[in-house]
Amino acid sequence: MAAPTLLPDPACLHLRLLDASETMITAVVATTFEEAVCPVCHRRSARIHSRYVRQIADLPWMGCAVRLELHVRRFFCPNPECARQIFTEHLPSVVAPYARRTTRLTDIFVLLGFALGGQAGKRLAAGMGLATSPDTLLRLIRTQPEMRHPTPRVLGVDDFSFLRARTFGTILIDLEKRIPVELLPDREAETLKKWLEAHPGVEIISRDRGGDYAKGAREGAPKARQIADRFHLLCNLSETLEDFFLNKRTALKEAVHDPATPSPVQAESCPPRLSQKGKTKKQEEKSEALHQQRVQRYHQVHELRSQHTRVTDIASQLGMASRTVEHYLKMTEPPQRIRVTHRKGRPKKVAPFQEYLLKRWNEGCRNARQLHRELTEEHGYTASYANVERFLMQCAD
Ligand SMILES: [Zn+2]
Repeated sequence: MAAPTLLPDPACLHLRLLDASETMITAVVATTFEEAVCPVCHRRSARIHSRYVRQIADLPWMGCAVRLELHVRRFFCPNPECARQIFTEHLPSVVAPYARRTTRLTDIFVLLGFALGGQAGKRLAAGMGLATSPDTLLRLIRTQPEMRHPTPRVLGVDDFSFLRARTFGTILIDLEKRIPVELLPDREAETLKKWLEAHPGVEIISRDRGGDYAKGAREGAPKARQIADRFHLLCNLSETLEDFFLNKRTALKEAVHDPATPSPVQAESCPPRLSQKGKTKKQEEKSEALHQQRVQRYHQVHELRSQHTRVTDIASQLGMASRTVEHYLKMTEPPQRIRVTHRKGRPKKVAPFQEYLLKRWNEGCRNARQLHRELTEEHGYTASYANVERFLMQCAD
């Protein structure tokens, strides 16, 4: 990196005068070149047509704003056949045509914008004596050329939310370099397939447990090896352990109270049955245990709040999101258990498919989009996706 200099480019500028007021330093500068090059025909010219002054913001000195009063010239083009008879001298290392700030100041704004975004970038800039706005920082980011990355050998595929829990896209990550390489507008198999076909060379694809990415990867890069990503392996593990311990709850309780008592034989080996509430016995137990956890959380949150603990501290102590803590604080009594209910006079459209959904749920498929697709394509389901999603939320309760 070049050493910082007083003027943006001392090779083509010289300082005529330095003037300082209480709040502003003004540097009167002019170009050092005798000639300039016509931007159209590239012929050199020393015939000056006229002069004018540009006011340009530069990096602050000790937090004080700096303005360059840049004296530049217009030249006659010596080429009689050139379309541009008069041209202005350009100083690309100092300032872009028509720009109101030096290139090096723009570079600083771009860095701030990428690092902090609009609002925070503007606040830091103000602290450094730089005047700008959040919109300017964001506009500068958008004008930067897009970075192109080579096709990764190991590709991570996962979904992300454009609008929380409503619209989703797909993010593709180079897992060896740990950088995002592409954002796809949805999480459909076809979109991933097209991207993989356009970017051959991926050898390993790390993905979630959903069927769409598996299908897209299989069709778009049939030779690539597919693996489950670490997050979803841990999800598998935690769900399995949770199910296991919830099923052994009675035995664990008895073992704690009376270690000598042998554990009763549990009914978990029975195949899933639907209870009157539309859940298997196993799901009922899990639901009850989760409800007890929520009640306990409710009391812990209110207890900490009564000791004047801040919401963010409660959230951090209990490992909860601040929004959830606020939600609990608004409640005047412990949360009630939500149960599956049938509205009078309106038969549940998902009811005939309930058994299938529970079977798939117990097999580990929790993806509402995929289950909705399976029902519509293979089982003649015609009602909305929202019904399926609502039913799965009740299963998760
Ligand atoms: Zn010319």
